[in-house]
Amino acid sequence: MKFETRSIHISQEPDLSTGAIIPPVHLSTTFYQEIPGRHKGFEYSRTQNPTRRTLEEVLASLEDGNFALAFSSGCAATMAVLSILKTGDEIISSSDIYGGTYRIFEKILRQYGITTNYVFSNDPYEIKDLLNERTKIIWIETPSNPLLKLYSINDIASIKRSNTILVVDNTFATPYFQRPLNHGADIVVHSSTKYLNGHSDVVGGAVITNNEDIYQRIKFYQNAAGAIPSPFDCFLTLRGIKTLSIRMERHFENARKVYNYLKNNRFIKKVYFPDIENDEIYKRQMAGFCGMISFEFGNDYAQTEMFLKSLKIIKNAESLGGIESLICIPSKMTHASLSYEEREKRGITDNLLRLSTGIENAEDIIDDLSKAISLSMRNRLNYEI
Ligand code: PLP
Repeated sequence: MKFETRSIHISQEPDLSTGAIIPPVHLSTTFYQEIPGRHKGFEYSRTQNPTRRTLEEVLASLEDGNFALAFSSGCAATMAVLSILKTGDEIISSSDIYGGTYRIFEKILRQYGITTNYVFSNDPYEIKDLLNERTKIIWIETPSNPLLKLYSINDIASIKRSNTILVVDNTFATPYFQRPLNHGADIVVHSSTKYLNGHSDVVGGAVITNNEDIYQRIKFYQNAAGAIPSPFDCFLTLRGIKTLSIRMERHFENARKVYNYLKNNRFIKKVYFPDIENDEIYKRQMAGFCGMISFEFGNDYAQTEMFLKSLKIIKNAESLGGIESLICIPSKMTHASLSYEEREKRGITDNLLRLSTGIENAEDIIDDLSKAISLSMRNRLNYEI
């Protein structure tokens, strides 16, 4: 079965007792045991739940993985993966990552004696130089948040040590455009809050792997620590996933149009978007990009703020990957947990904006950007006069 068909049909046969085409939402917290231990595979909903199991089977199938586990947020999924580590272990991470992941590395793991070293380029040899017997995890986001850098999963997989686990956060690309397990990653992590659910109404996360030992360890943690998604959130995410393919096509198409507009606008200083015609990493591991574009606008914060205030369709808000266009200032919002110095080292300037292009009509999105740029430029000139 092809991806689009799997996203609709895998593990979602008509309900046996009623014939319902859409599987019911199983809200029950507990399940009947004829005698202790004799049951239909479900005991208590933190441990296993039928609606969550369906979501996990769909996620495993879409990532071409054997096992998947769903969590109550992307950060909960990240913590579950990191539960594999113990004091003295080290992580090598791409420097450009979601601010909340950086916060977990620095504010939670460091106090337990687990340290993270960052690589600032996408050259795998920079990772090779840092690798040692204590390196247990290499963590990359590709495309990365917020600068949209690409890392070669295959090259990094080929230089890692046998006891190092390569984790790829695939939140931005989604399995529709990139399947990291097929390129040598050991674990895929998602914030399903974003494109997978796609409608900005569920916070969720996921871990997918082919390695049974890793799966069992993270499954143990899922039950023991308990950061599971509610059955209703699983149902909504399953519903969102059914339209993932068409949404991703439209996000990508709109993003390309917006990129062409922004790169030709003389007031936009810098635009971050991959060179999809020529980028070798893109061509090797991705079948498309996503709706994300980052760019620098404004001579100072007041002008950037004026621009945000002038937007009518695109809303200034955290998060990304929903059907509606959202914009944010990473330095003040998603990446505020990094100090000014840490942001500067990474190139996250105070006038960097991160746009999540929605699936509205592209002309309306461009028109909104264009009017807000003109308005904030005009106000600036008036102010200077
Ligand atoms: N990974 C990436 C790339 C993200 O952008 C985010 C959140 O923005 C997360 C993980 C964390 O996910 P959540 O907000 O669902 O906890």
